[in-house]
Amino acid sequence: MEVDYMMATSLCNIPGGQEQARRRFDWIQAHYSLEPNAAKVIAGAERNCGTVGSQQVSYIWTSATTRTSLVSGAQPSVKGKIYYEWGSSLADGGKSASFIKRIPTEDFESRLIDTTTNGAYAVKMLRKRINSSCARINREAKDSVLDAEASIEASKHFIVVSRGRDYLPSELNIFASRLEKYLQAYCRQFGMTRPQHFIIVYASKNVDNFKKNASLLHGLNLPKGAIGYSFQNDLSIAAVVPIVGVGQGTFNHELFHLLSRSKFGDIPPWMDEGMAALYEVSEIRSTKIAGLPNWRGRVLFTFGSLRPSLKTLLSWNWSNFDNNAEYQPSDTLQVIDNQRFNQQAVNYATARYFMFYLQEKRKLEDVYKAFQERDPDLLTMSIEENSCYTLAQAMGMSFENIESDFQKWLKDEIIKEKMRGYF
Ligand SMILES: [Zn+2]
Repeated sequence: MEVDYMMATSLCNIPGGQEQARRRFDWIQAHYSLEPNAAKVIAGAERNCGTVGSQQVSYIWTSATTRTSLVSGAQPSVKGKIYYEWGSSLADGGKSASFIKRIPTEDFESRLIDTTTNGAYAVKMLRKRINSSCARINREAKDSVLDAEASIEASKHFIVVSRGRDYLPSELNIFASRLEKYLQAYCRQFGMTRPQHFIIVYASKNVDNFKKNASLLHGLNLPKGAIGYSFQNDLSIAAVVPIVGVGQGTFNHELFHLLSRSKFGDIPPWMDEGMAALYEVSEIRSTKIAGLPNWRGRVLFTFGSLRPSLKTLLSWNWSNFDNNAEYQPSDTLQVIDNQRFNQQAVNYATARYFMFYLQEKRKLEDVYKAFQERDPDLLTMSIEENSCYTLAQAMGMSFENIESDFQKWLKDEIIKEKMRGYF
């Protein structure tokens, strides 16, 4: 995002560049998940774009300092996954994670260890660095992720960590070898880049340990129902995996988010969440990964009336996608929470099943590539129109035909899943 932001602010200062700058600002707002402060900065920069004289001087100064703070990780980037628990109030109204403690950027950076480092030595270094970070920042808690009983294992690209007696080292190795397979498949299938540093994986057997880790390592307070998240700044993923060998899907989901950012920082929300969710329940078929039906089908079966059209889904930015319900003033807070959460669950499920549809039509890779190659400078139409156009080009079908074909496919798929007893 920093690159897009720098380009937009530079264009503002070039005579005649304001129109292009505005397009770039719209692009940022449509494709990046922005913290409230960052959103304000972007909106302010867009408002001030092209102003002249003394205002321009102060504007340049403002944008320069802001950019530094965006780049330095003052607003760390986190993506979370929330499980939709049936018939319970487990979910927290679709709220997102919040930062309750500020962890210094240097702490995150200290956890980035080059993958050329010998595994045993990398493990030793990480243990030392996490322990000293925990001791410094969480003095009062007297708690560390890596206590004396913690297990920690390294593979070629991953270091897997578990607190206390959550898992045996042999179990952590199972996690690592499966993650290695998904890493290879994501790179092969979608051209993602292998990271230069180890990806740190925090595996927890229960929600308690998962939340303790999130607070200690990332200063995060997670909402109810959260079962996984990924953190760009120290290249880590964390998840609750109650049973080894069964529930590793959340790791695959979070790994997708981490890796998609390597070459596709402006991936649209429906694609990022749809594909991450597709691989939660999936299998490796020779050289490719393939998503399979999962619990999100039941969400669509139950709340079909809340499902957005494809055109609407493609037009949403992150804030629409995460929280799209409109409410009546008479609604109580609990009703609002439930509505918001149901709508959010349906948005995610629709995105997942649209990716599933593309996979079954053997078009997922083409569509991914077409959106990755989009250039905001070359748009001759609105971003929304261009999304429909790009999809239609990649599929070789008109957008109207894709919309109706998807609706038909989805209806048949949900009936099939119901008949087969998936829900
Ligand atoms: Zn996600």
